Amino acid sequence: MGNCGVVGVNWGDEGKGRMVDLLTERYDIVVRYQGGGNAGHTVINEKGKFALHMLPSGVLRSGVVNILGGGVALDPENLWKEIEEVRVEDVEITPENLKISERASLLMPWHRKLDELEEARLADKKYGSTKQGIAPFYSDKYQKKTVLAGELLHPELLKAHLTDILEWKNLIITKVYGAEGYTWGMIEDWIEKYCDPIKPFLCDAGRFLMDAQESGKNILFEAQLGALRDIDYGIWPYTTSSTTLAKYAPIGCGAPAIEMTDVIGVIKAYSTCVGEGPFVCEMTGHEADLLREAGAEYGAKTGRPRRVGPLDLVATKYGAQLQTVTSLAVTKMDVLSYMEKIPVCVRYRVDGQETDQFPFPALLDRAEPVIEYIDGWHCDISGARRWEDLPEQAQNYINMIEHAMGCRVQYISVGPERDRIVVRS
Ligand code: GDP
Repeated sequence: MGNCGVVGVNWGDEGKGRMVDLLTERYDIVVRYQGGGNAGHTVINEKGKFALHMLPSGVLRSGVVNILGGGVALDPENLWKEIEEVRVEDVEITPENLKISERASLLMPWHRKLDELEEARLADKKYGSTKQGIAPFYSDKYQKKTVLAGELLHPELLKAHLTDILEWKNLIITKVYGAEGYTWGMIEDWIEKYCDPIKPFLCDAGRFLMDAQESGKNILFEAQLGALRDIDYGIWPYTTSSTTLAKYAPIGCGAPAIEMTDVIGVIKAYSTCVGEGPFVCEMTGHEADLLREAGAEYGAKTGRPRRVGPLDLVATKYGAQLQTVTSLAVTKMDVLSYMEKIPVCVRYRVDGQETDQFPFPALLDRAEPVIEYIDGWHCDISGARRWEDLPEQAQNYINMIEHAMGCRVQYISVGPERDRIVVRS
């Protein structure tokens, strides 16, 4: 069957967790390879409703091995809290079904603090960070000023290494921001409380994956956020701080030789965006409120209302190209059922010129959406399980997406629960 990536084509929150939860039935291993606990996947299945931030969505299916690869921002505090939370719901998490790369760098308490301090300093110029410390973490990682998870297994080396970093960090926290620094005692307590419990899960994840591939196991890669938040090619600087693209997955998991036969690009039937930055197709006022309510568009991590808009074919096509998708999943089709006419952003107008090319980030503020309307289906589609069950107008909407993307829509999600899906053969 081969390996598969499930990736976001838009700004994140497309419903990737829902798709991974559905597909894990066919895979042996689920891997997270980038990002941290700053976004969240909401999954609803027979075990309950889960908001997963760090854990791969495969933990909800027994028999699946889950990996946190070397490319993730490993936040021991949030990870351990999340493990304890899902265990309450009878989800088993053991070193057999969760493996953490010893190569993953640790997100330290000061990363969260620095994120907050910098957003506060920026005031109305803030980036709209979720304040989970992701940007300070990745900049420290690339400055080689954090520690690898595997160092937890060598306490003496860890102490020496962290003491040096702490000295430098305290200078920044106290002298640049005028805030309170950390003592070694505080860090020691934090290690004992949140890092010691995750030590049994550490391993050479790259080696595990290469062995698994050799013995014929099928691997599913689960991305966080979407193409438009990619650090290199997204709406910079309103991006995340990691690579959200499918091509990075084998590197981020420590097994660059692994290839993906399928990349499923997840698209929401309309657009949402959390935080600051250009969002060309943004709706406002009553129209936006109706869509936000219909789609329950509030952030899984922060509860912030998401900005909403119609499906943006310009951004979505750009995202699908970046993700090298081989097929598409369209989620939340049921949410559009209340609309008589459905708006779609088909092109942008930049400085009076219409274009179907996604502009350079600094020009996005000058772009306006060109909107066309297509007929809505205006009825409940949440019971649809086969293509034939969908009303003609809903089929037309999907055909329009396929035509614009030049790619097959394989899955159409009509509700958040695992079985509310149309799978096309
Ligand atoms: P992810 O980070 O890409 O996994 O997406 P999120 O979990 O942040 O956001 C997707 C939200 O939409 C979650 O609350 C899901 O339960 C919900 N969802 C996913 N698919 C559907 C669908 O087809 N219909 C509806 N109504 N909700 C959906």
